[in-house]
Amino acid sequence: MGQAQVGVLLYLHQLAIEKMNKRVLFILLLAVQLPATAETPSADLILFNGKVFTGNSARPHAEAIAIRGERIIAVGNSDEIRALAGPATKRVDMHGHLVIPGLNDAHYHLSIYPADAINVELKSPDPGWEELRDALAAKAAATPVGTLLLADVSAAIFNDSRVDRAALDQVTTDHSVVLRTFTGHSEILNTPAFLKVGIGENAIDPKGGRFERDATGRLTGVVREYAVLQVARRLADSTNDTDAQRELQHKLAQAAEWGITSIQDMSNAIEPGRAVRLLSKIPTPIRIRIIRMPPTTPSGRDTQEGRSLPAHPAPLLRVSGTKWFLDGVPLEFTFDPRGSHKDSSDKGFDESVRDLPMTFDAVELKAMLHESRKFHDPLLLHVAGYPAAAAMLTAMEETGGAPVWASRRVRFEHGDGLLPDLIPRVKALGIVVVQNPTHFAALGEQVTKVAQPMKALLDAGIPLALGSDGPLNPYLNIMLAVTHPRQPAEGLTREQAVMAYTLGSAYAEFAERDKGTIEPGKFADLAVLSQDIFTAPLPELPTTRALLTIVAGKIIYDAKVLSQARP
Ligand SMILES: [Zn+2]
Repeated sequence: MGQAQVGVLLYLHQLAIEKMNKRVLFILLLAVQLPATAETPSADLILFNGKVFTGNSARPHAEAIAIRGERIIAVGNSDEIRALAGPATKRVDMHGHLVIPGLNDAHYHLSIYPADAINVELKSPDPGWEELRDALAAKAAATPVGTLLLADVSAAIFNDSRVDRAALDQVTTDHSVVLRTFTGHSEILNTPAFLKVGIGENAIDPKGGRFERDATGRLTGVVREYAVLQVARRLADSTNDTDAQRELQHKLAQAAEWGITSIQDMSNAIEPGRAVRLLSKIPTPIRIRIIRMPPTTPSGRDTQEGRSLPAHPAPLLRVSGTKWFLDGVPLEFTFDPRGSHKDSSDKGFDESVRDLPMTFDAVELKAMLHESRKFHDPLLLHVAGYPAAAAMLTAMEETGGAPVWASRRVRFEHGDGLLPDLIPRVKALGIVVVQNPTHFAALGEQVTKVAQPMKALLDAGIPLALGSDGPLNPYLNIMLAVTHPRQPAEGLTREQAVMAYTLGSAYAEFAERDKGTIEPGKFADLAVLSQDIFTAPLPELPTTRALLTIVAGKIIYDAKVLSQARP
């Protein structure tokens, strides 16, 4: 700040003390604001010589950024921004690297497993039962008795009726075995695993969930939907705080290395009060929004869990919103017996989306809407199939329609079944759709003609956000959002994908005033990247890493590639 400007400010201060006419004061203030940078105090941190993708349509590209405290104070060319540096300003030369608004993973599940649990890695991408069985047997032979063995399995194994509790018991009864489908909506357990989580033959199904049984009433090992949540919660509960903290810390450090500055966490495995406690203790380096994702009991949904938690329990932590599963996932068919849709691969993914059974009835959907209004609590809904989407749209239309709902940003997570006839209704009700691009690749090989729309949503003016709901790597997700392997015509441009992952995700959490673009006044949440994701060959996108990740004006990850200096 120049001496002349300091003089003007002192003079104004004097005038204010003398209770000067406010209108005159306002005019004088306007006059000193005219030179764009004159009013700006010196920055704490400047980044220059970069290629800034701001996400701000008024000024999409720039070279440099100035930060003071937790916010951005200026965006411009390198000379303009260097002029804002004072004697104490930290300076980072970006050497031409790309900088983007910090990525905001709109749909993630922070999870914790007992520290001695072992993930059984499988060699082929889509193994059959024989390969899995041999891998489990080998792992069991090499690990101490009592160890929990986990394996992620595809629909091919899940739908193979030979794979059940008895088959897993034949491999080992000295170890707990939990097979998880990639989607997290179904599992197959062996007998020791049931014992470990305290679920016995007499267990009663929780509402919206199922412990599958054979004709004699015995548990088959197959666990569905809200019953899977029960298993996940009990495994997380059996993990002590020290191990849990270490696991979360590791995950958040990974996020920072990818330039993720916000995660919206669906708190299903970890009870939200415990999540708050653990994340406050670490403390979290990035912003986390904890979304309640309560379990169900045989008598109904737990509408109270996490309700009394403070909205801002720690500096980068927020608690907001409640999420419910309205259905399962295509190709796993919610509660339908395994194998009853053998022809699904012939009928294709589109048909499996059209037929997907719901977890709750229409009365329950209206109850969720009622609770959202009563508690002023954002509502997030897992909606993968057409029937659940259509039923929820009807429930919203019958409880006030657009006048009540359009401003409440009800979220449809996944939205695979938003077929063309539903799109105008989704638009009218102000629904935000959160897509998860890895799902385009993970659920089998079928292409789709209408399911999993994405570009069609943007074309209709529906707000779109992106979240991983799986592998956290945002550049893998951006690559898949662009290529959309199931339906390439629904792929986004790279800019659209980045915008959905930043501003779109911020909008999906009512935070677009503070986050999602690089512009003065917003939080200084951003990432300098190792390569230009707008021009690098698409298959190389997943190798992208952050060189520098900044949250609330603080460097929380530094790959030590860019030099920092003070003048
Ligand atoms: Zn999810």
